Amino acid sequence: MTTDGERAVAVVWAYRRTGKFAFHVLTGALESDRATREVPLEFANGVDAVVAAIAAHRAAGRRVLVGWSFYSPDFLLMAAELAAVRARVVDAEVVHVAGGVHATAEPLQTLQRGFDLVAVGEGERLVVELVSAALRGASLAEVPGIASLAPDGAVRKNGRAERIALDDWPPFGPRHDRFGPIEITRGCIYACRFCQTPFFAGAVFRHRSVANVREWVRYLVGRGFKDLRFLTPTSLSYGATGPDPDLDAVEALLAGVREDIGPERRLWFGTFPSEVRPEHVTPASMQLLQRYVSNRAIIVGGQSGSDAVLRHSRRGHDAEVVERAVALAVEHGFKPHVDFLFGMPGEGASEVEATLAMMDRLVERGAKVHGHTFMPLPGTPFRRATARTITPAVRQRLRNLASRGMLYGQWEQQERTARELEATRAGDRTR
Ligand code: SF4
Repeated sequence: MTTDGERAVAVVWAYRRTGKFAFHVLTGALESDRATREVPLEFANGVDAVVAAIAAHRAAGRRVLVGWSFYSPDFLLMAAELAAVRARVVDAEVVHVAGGVHATAEPLQTLQRGFDLVAVGEGERLVVELVSAALRGASLAEVPGIASLAPDGAVRKNGRAERIALDDWPPFGPRHDRFGPIEITRGCIYACRFCQTPFFAGAVFRHRSVANVREWVRYLVGRGFKDLRFLTPTSLSYGATGPDPDLDAVEALLAGVREDIGPERRLWFGTFPSEVRPEHVTPASMQLLQRYVSNRAIIVGGQSGSDAVLRHSRRGHDAEVVERAVALAVEHGFKPHVDFLFGMPGEGASEVEATLAMMDRLVERGAKVHGHTFMPLPGTPFRRATARTITPAVRQRLRNLASRGMLYGQWEQQERTARELEATRAGDRTR
């Protein structure tokens, strides 16, 4: 039911498995605001589903906002899906809005690929304001944080969405049964030059309070969840403002959550989908995890066995600390899974050899390697860098580790994605 001046509006998420939690957060934001709570929402997976959802809502007389959110590696695929949708739906009352880290870093490129609007910055408040503007029949391009193409083809920016306080927004969309890990920290003080997090979410930590986390944990328990997971760029930085962990804050969180979930339900911390920085692995932090968490694997960010590469990428730790972290984790009964990033800028043959040798030593001590390939991600200081080629001999050694079950991950797929990102970047420059 609409009143004078109001428009009937529906939101269709171009929903996919990767990045689905971002849609759940946006869903929670829309649910939490009185103006947008009742707006029909569809989770449409794939081109056919998006087209069908648009058709259904247009038939009901609603203007349709189609929301797209993706990471840089999926940009070309999403642009192709958008083109496929556009080939089947030509309708001025359907507006395609792209958000997320890639669109924020590359608004012009994103608009040139056919998206009508780009949501720049964090999505919670922005999606509420955008949908509210659509309901009022106001201009969407005027909403703060929205970028659009000007008639001369330049990008017309309208600022960037204000960063939010996590406590003010739900971590997912319970009214639509869309759940995910509870984000406990957003932003990251470490300025690793390959990483989009500080660019997108800022170089300071913003923590969700213990009370707020526990409120959502109790809600999940009430809904029957048995596994509780958290999202953070660096697990043991919970509650901290600088590089030193605040273990009292971590304990307040873990002890409180454990009290809420009881001994039977599982509490996952320092493991997927979050990790632990190697210098935060200490006897005290490991004993703390031993007391409260259910996981026996922890994910440690290692990235390289070469101090020169670690320095060049501003990781803020050296290779030795990674070895120490693995030894300490094993000593305390954890299985360390160590993230490595192959092909980083600054890598030569000796740096690659240092990394391979360190991986062998860590595996010998009981660790597993989680392999990634460097990608020049938009928004990062390394966005113009070129991924180093993985030579056949190195590839063979990595595959040998994988065949023994000691290395896993999407590193070969990411190698292809790195080349695609470089090609897209070159194509944009020649346009
Ligand atoms: S790689 Fe991890 S520690 Fe480094 S900036 Fe990104 S989120 Fe922070």
